[in-house]
This record gives sequence, C-alpha cells and structure tokens, in this order.
Amino acid sequence: MIEKIPVGISSCLLGNEVRYDGRHKHSRYCTEILARYFELRPICPELEAGLGVPRPPIHLRDDGDELRLVEVSAGTDHTAAMDRVIDRAMASLGDLRGFVLKAKSPSCGLERIPVHDLHRQIVRHNGRGMFAEALVRYYPRMPVAEETHLEDDQLRADFIGQVLAYHKWRQTLTGEE
Ligand code: SF4
Repeated sequence: MIEKIPVGISSCLLGNEVRYDGRHKHSRYCTEILARYFELRPICPELEAGLGVPRPPIHLRDDGDELRLVEVSAGTDHTAAMDRVIDRAMASLGDLRGFVLKAKSPSCGLERIPVHDLHRQIVRHNGRGMFAEALVRYYPRMPVAEETHLEDDQLRADFIGQVLAYHKWRQTLTGEE
C-alpha cells in the first residue's frame, strides 16, 4: 500500500469536539477530498495547552511589547501555556509536508485575526494565531492554508500541488525514496 503524505490539521476540522464551546468545525473538504491524498494528523493547541473543553473564549491582546493569549472575560493569560505547547510541538512536526489551519482562531488562524487592547477593543485586524505564527516561522517553506481557502477549487488544487512539491523537495534533501 502506498503511504499517504502526512499533513497536519487543526483538530476541530476533522470533526473532533475540541472547540471552546465543546463543538467541532468539521470541514468536509478536508475529510472527503484532502484525506484522499494525505494522512491528516490532528492537533488542537488549546487542548494541548490544558485549557480543557469547554473553556472560556480567548483572544489576542497587544500589551505593547508582545501579543498575549488571554481569556476574553476574565483576562486570564494563557500565553505561557501556549508557548510551552509550541516549544514541544514544533520540533515534532518536521515530517509533515503541509498544514491546514482553522481560520478565525486566535491560536490556529493564519490571517486577519483581530488583536485587542486591555479594554477588549479591537486595535487591528491583521493578527495571526499564536500557533500558526510559530508554525510559519519554524517551517517557512511548509505549505499552509486555512480551511476556508480550500473550499475554492483552484486554491485547493494549488495547495495540493504545493504539498506534493514540498514533499519532493524534502525527499531530495534527505535522499528518501
Ligand atoms: S481552532 Fe485550533 S485551537 Fe481552536 S479548537 Fe480548532 S484546533 Fe483547537
């Protein structure tokens, strides 16, 4: 049997009930189309950070020096816990050949994530989720896409092509077959 190429994915997109409200965000494009080509390996950074299910909603806050990941209502700061997840996870993702990220998440979202001030007001809309930011810094050549992009036939075909090309490039580097 031909081994499928491993691609990481935000766990909630596979239908796993790991979101803050105890629900999932199943993406049929992922489970019905991408899964034909790739072995989808789920991770939920917020669950890994010990935030539990259900959990209070969190958002990104700009405290002047850096972005923090805090609970919207209570302001409890989970940045250190997410940093530990990132430190642990990044080194172990080296065999992945792409990653599908959940849009609009302060942890997994790739673009247009709102950033707030201390008073919970949005100060900009161009943030990136903490886990997604670490992923693109640690693996700058790895193809990444939000699931909403993959609903477009052309963008999905592009992503699949990029994953295959990245896989081939990594094989060339390591001499794998
Ligand atoms: S968006 Fe990311 S952190 Fe949020 S539930 Fe999905 S996998 Fe977990």
